[in-house]
Amino acid sequence: MHIDAKPIDLTLTVPFRISRGVEYTTSNVVVQINHEGFTGYGEAAPDEYYGESQETVLACVALFAGNLGNDPFALEDVMRHLDKIIRRNPAAKAAVDMALYDLIGKMLGVPLYKLLGLNAAHAAYTSFTLGLDSPIEMAKKALIARDYPILKVKVGTRHDVEIIKAIRDVSSAVMRVDANTGWTPKEAIKNINALAQYNIEFVEQPIDAHDWAGLKLIRENVPLPIIADESCVTVEDIPRIADCVDGINIKLMKCGGIRHALKMIHVARAHNLRVMIGCMIESSLAITAAAHLTPLVDYADLDGHLLINDDPYVGVTVEKGKLVLPDGPGLGVKTR
Ligand code: MG
Repeated sequence: MHIDAKPIDLTLTVPFRISRGVEYTTSNVVVQINHEGFTGYGEAAPDEYYGESQETVLACVALFAGNLGNDPFALEDVMRHLDKIIRRNPAAKAAVDMALYDLIGKMLGVPLYKLLGLNAAHAAYTSFTLGLDSPIEMAKKALIARDYPILKVKVGTRHDVEIIKAIRDVSSAVMRVDANTGWTPKEAIKNINALAQYNIEFVEQPIDAHDWAGLKLIRENVPLPIIADESCVTVEDIPRIADCVDGINIKLMKCGGIRHALKMIHVARAHNLRVMIGCMIESSLAITAAAHLTPLVDYADLDGHLLINDDPYVGVTVEKGKLVLPDGPGLGVKTR
């Protein structure tokens, strides 16, 4: 198998602000794996928070070249081998894993969801994310997003309750809240109790990623479910965090791809956790790969491709919030 990589820069439709900072563009990498006349594509959306960048992904792919073997169906062996070559670097590995699934789907002539034994009709509804802004601006964003039945609202400021009230005044959408580690445990308990009256579905990552005791304390003192995102990166995190939260947010770019995500889904279920699948700012290539897994999850937040101007790909579509999986072989993604 032969692997190539190229950097792609994506521009956000509006600056995307979370409690940690703001993004205007994002620098991803597309990989392609060629084998016996077939080509599989994958995407890495590296996140500095998890120690990766476009440069580290390109360096990893150079390291992986010549180490993939010659059997794309031997995914378990290939991915284990890559883990031996270099630790972590989950976005780089996710791109390879995704490209291999795309490749074998194309070789067999079946879409990824079928390869995984899943029913496309059970694909999830996705939320649409509102980046941080003033309460008035966030209410305006909610009005613009009125076609989406589920909103994910970024918080982590001193006026979070006003933000949620302003949105609720103009929108009856299902609302999820994501603080991206922005609160202290004390603030989280106070804020979540105040937010509960606005009909919130759940709260994602209220506090610092490593403060698992804090998560447990919050969970015992608020009426809303708590979902771990930054606190739950790999499958090994799940047994340790299972008593501290109600569910986990799995992302291909955190865990290292589809194969690891499947393991996380099953381990989470074994611990009675709710399962969400989320994303970084990604094109339709990586978003579609994650969308194929949504028949297995409770919640999806796969809107990265809806937040960019220059999506080079067409794959999963969103109809009134429902993810509609493409029927083409592999990921079913085409160049725009
Ligand atoms: Mg999150």
